[in-house]
Amino acid sequence: TKFSDLSLDPKVLKAIEETGYETPTPIQAGAIPPALEGKDVLGIAQTGTGKTASFTLPMITLLGRGRARARMPRSLVLAPTRELAAQVAENFDAYAKYTRLTKALLIGGVSFGEQDKLIDKGVDVLIATPGRLLDHFERGKLLLTGVQVMVVDEADRMLDMGFIPDIERIFQLTPFTRQTLFFSATMPPEIERLTSTFLHAPVKIEV
Ligand code: AMP
Repeated sequence: TKFSDLSLDPKVLKAIEETGYETPTPIQAGAIPPALEGKDVLGIAQTGTGKTASFTLPMITLLGRGRARARMPRSLVLAPTRELAAQVAENFDAYAKYTRLTKALLIGGVSFGEQDKLIDKGVDVLIATPGRLLDHFERGKLLLTGVQVMVVDEADRMLDMGFIPDIERIFQLTPFTRQTLFFSATMPPEIERLTSTFLHAPVKIEV
């Protein structure tokens, strides 16, 4: 498979070219086509397999096909730690550089002020840790009813960190009709249960 065979937005292909990636990794080749068809994806992959691009590239492509909804985030990415969320945000910026999509990184350890300003202005994508996202929600700053694509990254680490109740709550704040791209390195029973509750007929890709 080549990136150019994957029906990605030409703007995304151009950005990938600049990164120097030559061919999609197995998780990318497996996850991107069903994600672009609007299907839920359950990706079982470790860090280092290229999984960040496997959800970011189709997400950017899908958002580019739709129309911006004023002030409402259309995509939400959840990561277990500040560092991981920040890495996803860096990847997003690189891959989305030729689009006009905007993002806010919602993580702890920084004041709410700057994050509030971005949310108020309106962003396409929220990249967040679960606790911080719920903090914003509880402060009445955030509506998730416009979310069309939701990504959960490193779900098994979220389980280890006690975030499963937060994840369930966040799923419930998003529309039932959302598309979910869900990634975990392992599938313990709690994660199996979560995916069978919240994913709709997911395409499972294991690398
Ligand atoms: P990840 O598993 O998402 O943390 O990615 C691991 C590393 O692989 C990152 O440094 C990416 O920039 C890099 N990477 C992702 N996709 C590709 C690709 N198709 N070809 C070469 N490197 C890649």
